[in-house]
Amino acid sequence: MKPSGKRPSRKISGNQRAALVVAASVVLAVLAIVGVVYTVAYIVGDPDSGNVGSGTETVRNIDNEGSTVELPDWIDVELLPVNEFSRPGEPTDEIVGIVIHYVGNPGTSAMANRNYFAGLAQSGATYASSNFIVGLDGEVIECVPLGEVAYCSNNRNHDTISIECCHPDETGEFTDETYDSLIKLCRYLVEIYDIKPENVIRHYDVTGKLCPLFYVEHEDAWADLVTDIFS
Ligand SMILES: [Zn+2]
Repeated sequence: MKPSGKRPSRKISGNQRAALVVAASVVLAVLAIVGVVYTVAYIVGDPDSGNVGSGTETVRNIDNEGSTVELPDWIDVELLPVNEFSRPGEPTDEIVGIVIHYVGNPGTSAMANRNYFAGLAQSGATYASSNFIVGLDGEVIECVPLGEVAYCSNNRNHDTISIECCHPDETGEFTDETYDSLIKLCRYLVEIYDIKPENVIRHYDVTGKLCPLFYVEHEDAWADLVTDIFS
């Protein structure tokens, strides 16, 4: 048999009603304030997410302990806008290694490659970026801050720093200027993260991709490069 009868209705006293009205008013006021703050923030815009320019004021480079890293002045900070295609804004896991790449587009500059990554925010053509790019003249650009994931090294994106290197021709061999800056950058990162020689690797060592081409085709040159970092 179906039980009959409704639940007895509870009587609310005048005091309780007043308290409910006050509580509801407080909640509505808080929601209104949050709404205004978000609207203003949206209109003003976040300097690091609203355009393809750079903005470094609010962005920290952090090490494995979460401490702020002050970059040396030879690194040109030109951060990508936060976007799903090239800078997801995700924190990394503990960094244990460095993955070295070549851009695969002979003669292009570090800034051109950086701007390509930035432009993916609009084009959505693919998912790609790197933490750093070393240029033909030895210039070093930071695209994605230390402590944030870049889309470069496949299943190692979360625990390595990625470095793209420019190259003048199809062989993929680096110029002396690029090479010297790469060594300097790697030494700097090895110091910060206490990286072991066996954890400085090529994209090739992650996926078998022929990247960085010259240093895949010339194992001796690759061995020399790692030796130069740690000597
Ligand atoms: Zn690569």
